[in-house]
Amino acid sequence: MDCVFCKIVAGEIPADVRYQDEELIAFRDINPVAPTHLLIIPRKHVPSLAQLPDAEMPLIGHMAKTATQLAREEGVSESGYRLVISCGKEGGQVVPHLHMHLIGGRQLSDALG
Ligand code: AMP
Ligand code: ZN
Repeated sequence: MDCVFCKIVAGEIPADVRYQDEELIAFRDINPVAPTHLLIIPRKHVPSLAQLPDAEMPLIGHMAKTATQLAREEGVSESGYRLVISCGKEGGQVVPHLHMHLIGGRQLSDALG
């Protein structure tokens, strides 16, 4: 599988991993847009949110819960942050492996898109 995030999960390419459990890993984005920019991904390859089976939607809750923990660790829980899941071409998804961005540590624009 020629997927950069699967390679991170497999330890084949390095990443600054901040959290891992049996289902997820989280690591720093290589091209951060804010002082805190982490990616939370499932270990399992799922191409996008649109391809996540209904029965596996609790995974998104697990990702969001992990994001709240990481936000506390990053010191942005009180100041605020944004969680983003880009889905598909017009959603701006570049890496075709489901991921949630945790972005914070500066004032973000109120404009989306
Ligand atoms: P998206 O546009 O939602 O698909 O976001 C993909 C994100 O993955 C971008 O913010 C990239 O900077 C990030 N990214 C791509 N390759 C790597 C990598 N090897 N390690 C960490 N982050 C990466
Ligand atoms: Zn993958």
